[in-house]
Formats: sequence, C-alpha cells, structure tokens
Amino acid sequence: MNVLIVLAHPEPRSFNASMASTAARTLRAAGHTVVTSDLYAAGFDPVSSRRNFTSIHDPEYLKLQAEELHATEVGGFAPEVEAEIAKMEAADLMVWQFPLWWFGLPAILKGWVDRVFAMGRTYGGGHIYETGKIRGRRALLSLTTGGPAPAYQPGGFNGDLDAILRPIQRGMLAFEGFSVLAPQVVFGPARADEAQRKASLDAWARRLAAIESEAPIEVGTY
Ligand code: FAD
Repeated sequence: MNVLIVLAHPEPRSFNASMASTAARTLRAAGHTVVTSDLYAAGFDPVSSRRNFTSIHDPEYLKLQAEELHATEVGGFAPEVEAEIAKMEAADLMVWQFPLWWFGLPAILKGWVDRVFAMGRTYGGGHIYETGKIRGRRALLSLTTGGPAPAYQPGGFNGDLDAILRPIQRGMLAFEGFSVLAPQVVFGPARADEAQRKASLDAWARRLAAIESEAPIEVGTY
C-alpha cells in the first residue's frame, strides 16, 4: 500500500510525533510505502486565499470553489497545494495524526483540508460520498486527547467521541469518498505514565501491522 501520514503537532518530541513515527516505522517494516506530511515542520500555510492558485478565473470576485474548478481544468493549483493533493491521490490509506483541539482539528490541519479538498479535483460534479472521487481509498483518524476516556463516553462530561468526530469522518473523509477506518484514540497521554504510553504506542503498532485487512466503519447520517 501507499500510505500518507499527515501530522499536525508543533512539537517534534510530542506524543503525537511518536505516534506518527511509530506508524511510519511499522508500515514500512510491513512492506508499505510511507510518505509523511509534517505540517508544522513544513511550515504549511493553512489560510485559503488566491495563493491556492497560479491560475485566475475571476480577478474581480474571489469564489474559492469556482477558482478550484478552473484550476482543475488548467492545472492551476499552487505547487504546495498540488503536492499535497497528489500525495492524497496516490495514497491507498491516509492517516491523520493530531491532538484534539477544541473538539476538532488543529487549525493547521483544518486549513490543509480547506486547501487540498478542492472542488472539481477531489470532489464535486455529483461525485460525493459513495460516488466521491477518492472512493476506493481508506482513511483513519489517529488522535490524542487531554480528557480521560470516561469523559468521551455517551453521558460523559465531554459527550460521545463519535459525535465529536462526525464532522470530520462524515463531513470531510466520507464526503470525499474515503472508506473510514475506526479512529485510533489515546486518551490523556500527558497524564499517563511511561509504561502506559509505551503500551499505547505498541497497541498502535500491532493494529497497523494488520491494517490492510481491516474493514471500514459506518459513519452514517445519524
Ligand atoms: P505531549 O504533551 O506532547 O506528550 C505527552 C507525554 O508523552 C510527554 O511527557 C512526552 O514526553 C511523552 N512522550 C512523547 N513521546 C513518547 C514516547 N515515544 N514514549 C513515551 N512517552 C512519550 N483536550 C481535549 O480532551 N479536548 C479538547 O477539546 C482539547 N482542546 C485543546 C485545545 C488546545 C488549543 C490545546 C493546546 C489542547 C487541547 N486539549 C484538548 C488537550 C490536548 O488534546 C492534549 O494536550 C494532547 O492531545 C496531548 O497530546 P500531545 O502529543 O500534545 O502530548
């Protein structure tokens, strides 16, 4: 498999960075090809603007999706956006590694989605969900939290994690056509001791060693 890991954490020695390097090492050892987009290390600009494009459709009024359609026709995506789209298109499996920030994606990763999920190129023209342009590929969220596991059960003080992840798993990944694998969640790594953190990394590696045969989950419209 070709695997793309997108890492969104500002600290190279963070637990998230360790999750990403564990994934890369394990998948390579299993014979897969791994490419990592380390967004902070790359200084990825998450702000959508005319800088998304080298082409111009309407110089008077910026409508991003119209510019995306035009850029798709003329090959007009900016090099840093084109490079990320190409990596995503080439991946059989995409893993997003991130800390949960304000019940969502860190801004740098949300901005990566804003710029890389582009109308005409990766979705649109009737190609969404089951007919999405990215169908046939799989994606997986690997995240960490500050809060403990019970806080993310239904009825817990933060509420059901599945509901928190639904805008990402349904609104972004399934919308593009990805088959979504169950999220990998490490609750509260900063509160854990060394042995618990090592156990979490080992569990992640064990799962990844067999990831090729894993079945997707339903991310429905509930
Ligand atoms: P780190 O603090 O980087 O790492 C934890 C520990 O693991 C460190 O001691 C590190 O040295 C150690 N470590 C690293 N690598 C290894 C290794 N290989 N082996 C063993 N130990 C290792 N939390 C929520 O639950 N909900 C929220 O909505 C939320 N919103 C937030 C918003 C913001 C803006 C911020 C900054 C935080 C928020 N948090 C929230 C907390 C956040 O989710 C956690 O702080 C984060 O998930 C912890 O992961 P980390 O990689 O940053 O941990």
